[in-house]
Amino acid sequence: MHLEDYIRNIPDFPKPGIQFKDITPLLRDPEALAHTYRAIANQYDESEVDLVLGAESRGFLFGVGVALLLGKGFVPIRKPGKLPAATHKQSYELEYGTDSLEIHQDAIRPGQRVLLVDDLLATGGTAQAAIELVKKCDGIIVGCAFVIELSALQGRQALSPYPVHSLIKY
Ligand code: AMP
Repeated sequence: MHLEDYIRNIPDFPKPGIQFKDITPLLRDPEALAHTYRAIANQYDESEVDLVLGAESRGFLFGVGVALLLGKGFVPIRKPGKLPAATHKQSYELEYGTDSLEIHQDAIRPGQRVLLVDDLLATGGTAQAAIELVKKCDGIIVGCAFVIELSALQGRQALSPYPVHSLIKY
């Protein structure tokens, strides 16, 4: 299956110069979606992962599916003010702006091994913030998996030494 066929490029969204990779065609096709979950989950041995982590909001769409296939639980990372219990907070830079993310302080037990899943790796700022949140919980990042990688933005290098896996590279 050519997953690229299910990614739509939208020029100049949300601002001029950004080539936005729209995953909604992939989401609405059940075979492409199931293939995406399986292709990510197949990269990992279920014995090496305790939890799957995904950041609001597109990280949820892929993280939960991968977590189910690996037989693991899912931990959401959310925008500030959304999580109801005590949180750790981390600021980060986007390809287009800055923001913060939060995690429940008790979401990861010390020493638990965490797989980060997101839709797209651009500069790596979002994933770096997620990694910092895992560290604040004393968790261990075992890998970062993305559906799409924008190679020119060198997010993979920014996430070094953590292993990065992506299904589609532009
Ligand atoms: P970054 O933190 O720079 O790696 O950006 C990653 C996050 O921003 C991903 O979770 C995407 O949802 C979003 N994003 C960044 N650039 C794009 C793009 N060109 N097309 C679609 N989403 C993007």
